[in-house]
Amino acid sequence: MAVRMRLWAGRLLDVGEARTAFGRALLRERYRALQRQIPLLYAIVLVNFMGLHFASGEPTGALIQPVSLLALFGVVRLVYWLRMRGRALAPEQILVELKRTLFLAALLSVAFSYSAISLYGQLPADGRPLVILFASLAAVGCAYGLTSFPAAARLPLLLFAVPFALRLVASGHPAHAGVGISLLLITAMILRLVHLHNESFVQLVWSRSEVETERERAQRAEQAALAEKARVRQVADTDPLTGLANRRAFIAELEARLGSLAPAPAFALALLDLDGFKPINDTFGHAAGDALLIEVAQRLRQKAGPRALAARIGGDEFALILPCANEAAVLRAGERVCTALEQPYSVDGREFGVSACCGLTLLTPGVGDVAMALSQVDAALYAGKLSGRGRVALFTPAIAAATRRRIAIERAMRDPNVGREFHLAYQPVYDLESGALRALEALARWNHPTLGAISPSEFIPITEQINVIEQVSDGLLARACAEATHWPAAVRLSFNLSAIQLCSASSAARLLAIAAEHGVEARRLQFEVTETAMLADFGSARLNLERLRAAGARIVLDDFGAGFASISYLREIVFDAIKLDGALIAAASASEAGERLLKGVLGLCASLGVPCVAEHIESASQLELLRALKCRDGQGYALSPPLPADEARKLAAAKLVPFASGRGRGRSQAA
Ligand code: C2E
Ligand code: MG
Ligand code: MG
Repeated sequence: MAVRMRLWAGRLLDVGEARTAFGRALLRERYRALQRQIPLLYAIVLVNFMGLHFASGEPTGALIQPVSLLALFGVVRLVYWLRMRGRALAPEQILVELKRTLFLAALLSVAFSYSAISLYGQLPADGRPLVILFASLAAVGCAYGLTSFPAAARLPLLLFAVPFALRLVASGHPAHAGVGISLLLITAMILRLVHLHNESFVQLVWSRSEVETERERAQRAEQAALAEKARVRQVADTDPLTGLANRRAFIAELEARLGSLAPAPAFALALLDLDGFKPINDTFGHAAGDALLIEVAQRLRQKAGPRALAARIGGDEFALILPCANEAAVLRAGERVCTALEQPYSVDGREFGVSACCGLTLLTPGVGDVAMALSQVDAALYAGKLSGRGRVALFTPAIAAATRRRIAIERAMRDPNVGREFHLAYQPVYDLESGALRALEALARWNHPTLGAISPSEFIPITEQINVIEQVSDGLLARACAEATHWPAAVRLSFNLSAIQLCSASSAARLLAIAAEHGVEARRLQFEVTETAMLADFGSARLNLERLRAAGARIVLDDFGAGFASISYLREIVFDAIKLDGALIAAASASEAGERLLKGVLGLCASLGVPCVAEHIESASQLELLRALKCRDGQGYALSPPLPADEARKLAAAKLVPFASGRGRGRSQAA
């Protein structure tokens, strides 16, 4: 029984709880409704309490003290609730407020009940109806005012209306007893209404909180989906090795910037190609190559700055979009980046060096498209590469013209009858001591009907790019071999090999087969290769050279001193001769330091036991100097320019010595 009483009381005085989401929502809704109702409720309390007091007909006397105190208390609470209006509280604070409300509702109900019952007893018969009226209005009004908080709403009914109604029933006055019974019935009805109201209130809050929970769940799912989408996009846009943007993201950004209709500042596009990365990757493995690329990416990020977009768009190709206002700033930015990339790299305790070529172009948002921007920057990079390693080139009208010419050459090169336009010139290589003709170097010539004479330095790289070099070169070698059969057997045919030929697997066998087909023995052949050509794929180059050498052909390192002049090639590949680049010869005749350098290089070759051929001997003094320095062979305009085939044939047959033989004496007689 006691347990059931406690349960009943617990349900009756249920304040609520802040543990569950629904409990918290219910607390908030109850409190919000109370905030709206309670000021009016206190107004009802005050008016009816004052009404009761004035119904007593005694403005002063025994009741004055509690009345004033209660009125004061009512005013204070009224002000308090007015100030609390619209203020949001935490569920725990709401709990405190509700408990306080419950307590005050009980206190006021008891005070009202006591005052009304005692007044009813004290007043004469004509004053009693007013007491009944004010008391009933107060009880019913307060109960209604608190409907959103049923535990409190029941208190004025149970502690005030019911005792007062019972007093009326017990008054013995039939009419008053009738009012008492009516008040009891109204109380019962209001209690039921409060209960029903509470049920629908709870139901409403429940469904709202369900909707809210569902909405929150949907929001969370949406956020998760967005985060996942962003992650997927990030993965799709990022180069997994370096963490830079990938080609796709880069092109998209470039497209967006170029397509921008809103006025925006100019920006630069940079294309960077690493020089020397491939040999490191091939020789030291992919792990070392990867580490180097990661470091390159870091330097790029750092040097390009936070407002730039850096991307890896190919194996060792990088690109940047840089905020740059003018051409000078663009070039400075390119130089800065290239200088940073040239600094030594330390990977697993080893030091590596690579450099970068950088093509740049200044772009204006809204002008041109991605294809145009990429072709400009490509052309600039190409021009930069032609000018040497680690060079920066900005796209200019001159580069545009060169690109147009290159495209025209490319187109002409694709003509199936182009072979007929090629021919060969032959430049003699002489023994500088005896003046004997050692070899004739075949040099390709191309006279195009509209483009005119095109230098091999210009068209050979293009034949490589469009992948027709082997076809072109094989044709030229065949012609050169056919020509060489007319020369004395002691005169060799020297033939230049390009990078692609040098590095393609079957080239040695093919070259030897062509020579054999034209009746030229391999020992009469001499193949000229450059360091840069070997760089492309050192392993394959070495294999081809070994095969050619094994067949009896000679291998000559061409243009030594023009590139890296790397001594490691001299150690790893056996050369039969080293051709000293024209720049070394020119420098030697121009300054003492140049002469010392030439002596040093000649000394190096002598200690390796490899004879030297001096290229680009343009003057008698250079010839004299080279003979004095005991350079074995020589070639250049001072000895003979490249000659047409028939002249070369005559020259080879005549056995003319182009200078007075004997070291350090004569000057050119026949050049
Ligand atoms: P290279 O093999 O170093 O040839 C020497 C170049 O210097 C030739 O230019 C020649 O005409 C030029 N030359 C000769 N004597 C002098 C001189 O005293 N002073 C100066 N300044 N130049 C001189 P060319 O014929 O324009 O050839 C340029 C390059 O093109 C060659 O350099 C060679 O690397 C390449 N090349 C030429 N023909 C062929 C070919 O049939 N196949 C391949 N793969 N490359 C070729
Ligand atoms: Mg050569
Ligand atoms: Mg050369």
